[in-house]
Amino acid sequence: MSKDNNGMEQNTKIALVTGASRGIGAAVAERLAREGFTVIVNYAGSAAAAEAVVQKIEAAGGKALTAQADVADPAAVRRLFDMAEQAFGGIDVLVNNAGIMAVTNLAMTDDASFERQVSVNLKGSFNTMREAAARLRGGGRIVNFSSSVTGLLQPGYAVYAATKAAVEAMTSVLAKELRGRNITVNAIAPGPTATDLFLNGKSPELIDKLAKMAPLERLGEPCDIANAVAFLAGPDGGWINGQVLRANGGII
Ligand code: NAP
Repeated sequence: MSKDNNGMEQNTKIALVTGASRGIGAAVAERLAREGFTVIVNYAGSAAAAEAVVQKIEAAGGKALTAQADVADPAAVRRLFDMAEQAFGGIDVLVNNAGIMAVTNLAMTDDASFERQVSVNLKGSFNTMREAAARLRGGGRIVNFSSSVTGLLQPGYAVYAATKAAVEAMTSVLAKELRGRNITVNAIAPGPTATDLFLNGKSPELIDKLAKMAPLERLGEPCDIANAVAFLAGPDGGWINGQVLRANGGII
């Protein structure tokens, strides 16, 4: 609850965006704040970047706060939801954006890389979905993050694509399990998007080649993806449930 200029209590919806210190998550946090949500800006290690996102939201007249938690850690995720309930009485929207990517051929992928991608992308999404399934308020929305690599299936993406395919599977199952709660569960599957995750370690030539793959002939920008998340989290997306929305300029 918050008070408006006349001192009247108002219901404010609460959105938790995981991995919101940078990239797509930061753009989603800013967009949802503009839509009137109070936003919990989760991060793993980038405290200063997360604080800068909150300051930007507040400077634009929105409400937000930072919350550190490694989504791969179930106890930390439980504490994150506990904090949100204590501060705001509950959560209405969960955006499961936190993710990592390592591009290596399967034969060259070491155990640590496999385990880290599975624990952040798959177990991390599972950890937050499990809390949300038990605790999200009625009328709530869960927006998971897959990737268009689940369709493209290029060499080098075996483990990453497998984690995202698993997230798509959990999206469909959880949408059905939440029958009767008036909560939708969907996934966004971005294509190549101009963030650290995509750009780091790639040559300008490779970036240009990948940018040209989509018929719209450019990389996605974080705000392109935030627009799609805002649709699924907002009133216009209310009839979309159990779906995977590829936001990728038509690459696949
Ligand atoms: P990014 O720029 O690398 O940002 C990743 C964010 O996730 C950061 O805020 C980071 O926080 C956070 N994070 C990483 N590990 C975490 C953990 N264990 N717990 C909590 N937060 C964690 O990535 P992005 O490109 O914005 O990607 C966002 C999502 O979109 C991911 O799920 C990714 O797989 C998906 N996606 C991206 C693309 C693309 O081309 N960019 C394409 C398809 C799908 P810290 O800063 O604190 O580390």
